[in-house]
Amino acid sequence: MATGWGSLLQEEQQLEELARQAVDRALAEGVLLRTSQEPSSSDVVSYAPFTLFPSLVPSALLEQAYAVQMDFNMLVDAVSQNAAFLEQTLSSTIKRDNFTAHLFDIHKQVLKEGIAQTVFLGLNRSDYMFQCNADGSPALKQIEINTISASFGGLASRTPAVHRHVLNVLNKTKEAAKILSNNPSKGLALGITRAWELYGSANALVLLIAQEKERNIFDQRAIENELLARNIHVIRRRFEDVSEKGSLDQDRRLFMDGQEVAVVYFRDGYMPSQYSPQNWEARLLLERSCAVKCPDIATQLAGTKKVQQELSRMGVLEMLLPGQPETVARLRATFAGLYSLDMGEEGDQAIAEAIVAPSQFVLKPQREGGGNNLYGEEMVQALERLKDSEERASYILMEKIKPEPFGNCLLRPGSPVQVVQCISELGIFGVYVRQGKTLVMNKHVGHLLRTKAIEHADGGVAAGVAVLDNPYPV
Ligand code: ADP
Ligand code: MG
Repeated sequence: MATGWGSLLQEEQQLEELARQAVDRALAEGVLLRTSQEPSSSDVVSYAPFTLFPSLVPSALLEQAYAVQMDFNMLVDAVSQNAAFLEQTLSSTIKRDNFTAHLFDIHKQVLKEGIAQTVFLGLNRSDYMFQCNADGSPALKQIEINTISASFGGLASRTPAVHRHVLNVLNKTKEAAKILSNNPSKGLALGITRAWELYGSANALVLLIAQEKERNIFDQRAIENELLARNIHVIRRRFEDVSEKGSLDQDRRLFMDGQEVAVVYFRDGYMPSQYSPQNWEARLLLERSCAVKCPDIATQLAGTKKVQQELSRMGVLEMLLPGQPETVARLRATFAGLYSLDMGEEGDQAIAEAIVAPSQFVLKPQREGGGNNLYGEEMVQALERLKDSEERASYILMEKIKPEPFGNCLLRPGSPVQVVQCISELGIFGVYVRQGKTLVMNKHVGHLLRTKAIEHADGGVAAGVAVLDNPYPV
């Protein structure tokens, strides 16, 4: 892929002026984050970091990613309903990983009692990088799928205007018009709306499980605003509030502060540090209720890295999606190499290969939120330490995707404007709603492009590594 903006990137003074304009437009559009100093207050906010220019993405790969999103929605939904597959897949992992074990425990308890909810809502984001093939052509390879708290749909709805502005300033109106419109927050809200309608109680609320310190509040507000415009009221509460003031009636309807809850939307609860014993109790209460959880606990488990790895095993997709060879082929085409580290020959071999060629692999624990994976020498040391211990089953190995770097400026508050070598990660937002056994909604609702400097192996926007971007289709 050519860099596209080659000559523009060379004029330092022009870049600085352009950056000033871009930042002001971003602020005006609401591409905002709270500051790390004041993460609980909106008194002082700043712009969410973003690229000065949109980054070039091959149209064919964009189309492929959109085309496979409904398949991924169906796949996640199928996994979440297959208790035997989840149990078998996670059996070795939960012996060594307390967090996954705790989630699984809740899953088992809910199954034993009987699932009260009848409507299911998935809001996910499937992330990809563009692998550079030996012949130089790019290929779409999935990094992971996020089934809980998939973020930046709100801010991604506001960044196209910023990049159009930058190109218009440069008199590149034709190029500006090529920037795709994008409105994931609306699509995500439509999914919540459908679930809320099917729950069928006109006065019931949407309960957004929020963190106390939330820098990314404007991203969440974008969805809340869409819901309010449809007369659906959202209350933001923490797990702690749920344990103090949440309750179930005898039909397991969920009440919060005395008001009935139709949909629980988690923007918390995906990392171990987010759970005190009290919070685990609150999560269990929510799961036991008949409110629509987004996601329900089984769908959260369907998004683990261990499940991702098992899905790539021959025959597994065919088992989960029987009689759908074309769907299976579309899904499989996006899979990178994924390797189990369960005790045994297969795991031994994967470890041996990664130790010999560390630059080809990534070691991943069952964690979300960025910054948990191991690369290079650190990965080798971890593998040496883990290789004779059953603890290794709590990790998976993945082929490292190597996109072709390109130049762009990453704009962040307080940082100089400079051109750096970057790579991008494309996410597609998916929404589905199931009532009983019937899928009543299955859509893709927009995209998110995040770009980071090549020296960072890991990390997203919230982790301070990647910045918001837009695909410039070529
Ligand atoms: P998390 O759940 O923490 O977001 P990811 O699997 O998305 O975990 O990994 C975090 C980041 O690490 C990704 O955003 C990407 O930048 C990088 N990464 C993950 N897997 C790979 C891979 N196979 N090849 C290259 N980079 C990867
Ligand atoms: Mg990720």
